[in-house]
Amino acid sequence: MKTVHNFNAGPCVLPQQAINSSIEELKDFAGTGMSVIEVSHRSKEWQGVMDETEALWKDLLQIPDGYKVLFMGGGASTQFMMVPFNLLEKKAAYLETGVWAKKASKEADFFGEVVKVASSADKNYTYIPQGYEIPKDADYFHITTNNTIYGTEIHTDMASPVTLVADMSSDIMSRPVDVSKYGLIYGGAQKNVGPAGVTFVIVREDILGKVSRKIPTMIDYRTHIKESSMFNTPPVFSILVMNKTLKWIKETGGLQAIYKQNIAKAALLYSEIDRNAMFVGTAEKASRSVMNICFVMADGYQEKESAFMEFAKERAMVGIKGHRSVGGFRASVYNACPKESVQALVDCMREFETLNT
Ligand SMILES: *Cc1c(COP(=O)(O)O)cnc(C)c1O
Repeated sequence: MKTVHNFNAGPCVLPQQAINSSIEELKDFAGTGMSVIEVSHRSKEWQGVMDETEALWKDLLQIPDGYKVLFMGGGASTQFMMVPFNLLEKKAAYLETGVWAKKASKEADFFGEVVKVASSADKNYTYIPQGYEIPKDADYFHITTNNTIYGTEIHTDMASPVTLVADMSSDIMSRPVDVSKYGLIYGGAQKNVGPAGVTFVIVREDILGKVSRKIPTMIDYRTHIKESSMFNTPPVFSILVMNKTLKWIKETGGLQAIYKQNIAKAALLYSEIDRNAMFVGTAEKASRSVMNICFVMADGYQEKESAFMEFAKERAMVGIKGHRSVGGFRASVYNACPKESVQALVDCMREFETLNT
């Protein structure tokens, strides 16, 4: 198998250890003589995986009592609708920090009044707005903690006067989180915690059951709480790989250790972007994401963009093309992206500068 440096934005690089042990279970699951995709989801062996996966979430994130961890289908995009369906009675507040945040608030429009407390659209979402007011009569306040496309991130767990809801699709498990600050956290697994197909939801139970509308069974979080994420057949293989990915995080030393590695990787690449005359970062420094690092060619070097892309490709860099709405380059350096890959990209940028300046 050829070796590449995988900077894909999602789906993306996963721990090799998690992939290898999932392959074994794909052949023979827990000694059952069947593949994990052939066994009943009601079997005790599968129940063991569900229980262990939930326990890993609670352990790694230090989730307090009163919260439930759910595994569902539909991706983060289905949560854009499920959140207001279950929580929005009259009014909800949204912070518009990018395309995903905007898509989330668009779904809330179907259910009630939506207050946009602030937006960074004026500068193509290159910063996290500060100094806005959250309406105290809102049913909840929705944020997107990491803006995958623009490379900005809310680095701290903010205090909110109303229930705080967060889309953490692209920075979950990248740092310790004070879950007690949030009423609900959700995301697609396919960035830091596994393959596409499973969606995680961490919800404080006491925020549910407060809206007057009727909620269809599959859309009601209480269904999934009551049935421990097995009201219907769960996405078994995706959950299995998530289980293995979380085990790898735990063996790596948990979220403090992972965070330290992530900070070091991001610092390595950002310092090269700031040093190298040919490149410039797009996000404001205070808002820079630890997960998705966006940069473009500096003034005077714009015509070198495709040449650098080609140069990097020849050196086994994969997935560094920026999102079409930003242009340039984006290196996603999720948990499982090794520091060696980041170093290889830095070396590649240095070499390109030497050859072209
Ligand atoms: C990738 C992503 C999504 C979309 O997730 P799906 O599971 O594909 O619906 C939503 N929000 C953020 C922040 C993302 O990075």
